[in-house]
Formats: sequence, C-alpha cells, structure tokens
Amino acid sequence: MVQIPARVLTIAGSDSGGGAGIQADLKTMLALGVHGMSVVAAVTAQNSLGVQGYWELPAEAVAAQFRSVVDDIGVQAVKTGMLASPVLVETVAGLLAPLRAPVVVDPVSVSKHGDPLLAEEALDAVRTKLLPTATVVTPNLFEVRQLTGVEVRGPQDMRAAAEAVLAYGPSWVLVKGGHLEGEAADLLFDGTREHWFRSERYDNRHTHGTGCTLASAIASHLALGRDVPRAVAAAKDYVTGAIRQGFPLGAGIGPVDHGW
Ligand code: PLP
Repeated sequence: MVQIPARVLTIAGSDSGGGAGIQADLKTMLALGVHGMSVVAAVTAQNSLGVQGYWELPAEAVAAQFRSVVDDIGVQAVKTGMLASPVLVETVAGLLAPLRAPVVVDPVSVSKHGDPLLAEEALDAVRTKLLPTATVVTPNLFEVRQLTGVEVRGPQDMRAAAEAVLAYGPSWVLVKGGHLEGEAADLLFDGTREHWFRSERYDNRHTHGTGCTLASAIASHLALGRDVPRAVAAAKDYVTGAIRQGFPLGAGIGPVDHGW
C-alpha cells in the first residue's frame, strides 16, 4: 500500500542564503520524514553576514497560499516564523484560529545579526492574536523580554518568564535559555507540567537557523503523533545534532546542518 506521509506547513520568511526560514524548515521536515509545505510570508535578501533587505507579501497572497494547501492537501501541524508586519500577523492568526492541527509559533523578531524581521508595531498582534492560536510557542530570552517585559537573568527566572508568556493563551511555552551564560537549559511549561531540557554546549559559531529548525522539528514530531513533551525532546535532539555539524559558509555565520 502507498504510504502517505504526515504533512507539515511552514508559514515564514524565505532566507536566500538557505540557512534559516523556510529553507531550514523544509530541510528539517525532509530529514524527519514528513512532507513539508510552505506559505511564503516575506522574502529576505540574506547571507552569512546578515539580512540585507526584506519584502513582505500582500496579505491576500499569504491567505491564498494557505487556502490552497489546507483545502486540498491538509496539514497535520503548522509552524510559523517570520511574519514581518502587523497585517500579516493578524492574517495568519485569523487563518490558524479555526484550524484543528497543532501550531508551533516561533515568535522571531530579530536575526542573530540584529537585523529586524518583525515590525515593532506587530508585537501587540503577536501577543493578543497569534499566541492564543499556539499549541507551543518557542521564544528565546530576548523575545520573552520583548513580549512580556520579564528579564531572565538565570534559570531561577525561567518559570516566571514561562508564566508571563502563558498568560497570552498558548497551551505550552518552551522558553529557550540558550543565551544564558554557563549551563543552558530550556523550560517547557503548560501551567502545571514543567519539563527541563539540558543539552551540551558546542563551541561552534555556525548556528544560523537554529530557532527555525527547532520549531519546525517540533511541528514535524507533533504531526507524527508525539505529544508535546516528546515532540520537544525529539526536536531538541535533532537541533543539537544540527548545531554540532554546523559549517562555515560565506564570511560570517554559517548554517546548522540537516544532512546526516
Ligand atoms: N531569516 C529568516 C527568514 C528567519 O525566519 C529567521 C529566523 O526565524 C532568521 C533569518 C534568523 O535566523 P538566525 O537568527 O538563526 O540567524
């Protein structure tokens, strides 16, 4: 019998350099054995040195891509990444609200190089419209501070940060502690169940696309039927391997590697 793979949709930005965004999402999905599909929300001109420019798509182009995919092929999980503007955040939130499939929201706002990927005026729509649609939201510590005002100075502050994000309505939050000094730990929390994920640190600066890869790996494992804690654990394993293999490309920060 023909096996039909689980289908996962990314709604995000294109990275012309192939390291992050939609390109990282599709590579992750391929590596994890699901069928990857994409709604392009924005196009970046980007390489290992940073984001040289970006252009968002019209809201109707985003909605039309979504309808084409969902109405015919169907989705078992969705991941959102770079959504650029308040209009696109609201459009995507409106499309996701009635969807029954799990949604992983990567609330990306700034690249590793410090280039903006989301207009400041869009933060309110992220908080009040997008986060309530999320099965899991995956902020790093900068995004936690931007969204909630909570400053995480050490692991002792992570629980308060998670509670502040949960107040906006996602089912689970994964607070990524990777930017803390010393041992890095991520906290997955749903208001009652607390899971800590600790991983080895690798001395590798080629980590472009890490956040996109983690969120799309979580979505892929949810589509494969895992519950949220197991999907996050499996996604962490995947991204840890991808970081370990990250390689130099161009003159700046190279991408994580999906090809093993
Ligand atoms: N470019 C796009 C289109 C993205 O979606 C993202 C992250 O979500 C980035 C760049 C940032 O990647 P990084 O911060 O890993 O360099």
